[in-house]
Amino acid sequence: MIPVVKSLSVEGAIGPSADKFLVRKPTQEEAEAAVRTLLLWAGDDPSREGLTDTPRRVAKAYKEFYKGYAEDPHHILDRVFEEVEGYSDMVLVRDIPFYSHCEHHMVPFVGKAHIGYYPSKGVVGLSKLARIVDVYARRLQTQETMTAQIADVIEEVLEPRGIAILVEAEHMCMSMRGVQKQGSSTMTTQYRGVFRNDPAEQVRFFTMVKSPGL
Ligand SMILES: [Zn+2]
Repeated sequence: MIPVVKSLSVEGAIGPSADKFLVRKPTQEEAEAAVRTLLLWAGDDPSREGLTDTPRRVAKAYKEFYKGYAEDPHHILDRVFEEVEGYSDMVLVRDIPFYSHCEHHMVPFVGKAHIGYYPSKGVVGLSKLARIVDVYARRLQTQETMTAQIADVIEEVLEPRGIAILVEAEHMCMSMRGVQKQGSSTMTTQYRGVFRNDPAEQVRFFTMVKSPGL
């Protein structure tokens, strides 16, 4: 086996988060062999008919699940609209669905993100905020880290007067294994700027997030 991790050399790096440790990208064959090993580990026979194509499908699915490693969130937010006709109230995009995988068990956690900010130097396209959530969700994550990363990049690019992020999700690693608490949800928040300094702003954000929709 050729070790894939732990080196400072960067050769064929696939993304901004991976380039620190990736020696070289595994081949398709190596990825499929690893899936066959896990099928054996689970107790099944990788050569039976129903599983023969599974390693190929899993390798393909991983490209989709983890495509966020190859995407740069700053690039997505590269267009800031500075003319907002004096608009300075809160911009809130709520109920952004996401699908992620916990970094401890590599099983899904699924939920919604809500992003609110008070513009100062400009705004970004609303769909860009949803794409930012997707970039971070499609990596191995903890919900806490993901929430902070979303706040960080928006803060860096937009320098808003305040930013509030609420992420709520169900973690399959809690629902399916261990304590098996089905239906429990986890909420994480990040408040920056006026949201951090003024609890009334946090209440306003939360009220808008939870108010009846369209
Ligand atoms: Zn987990």
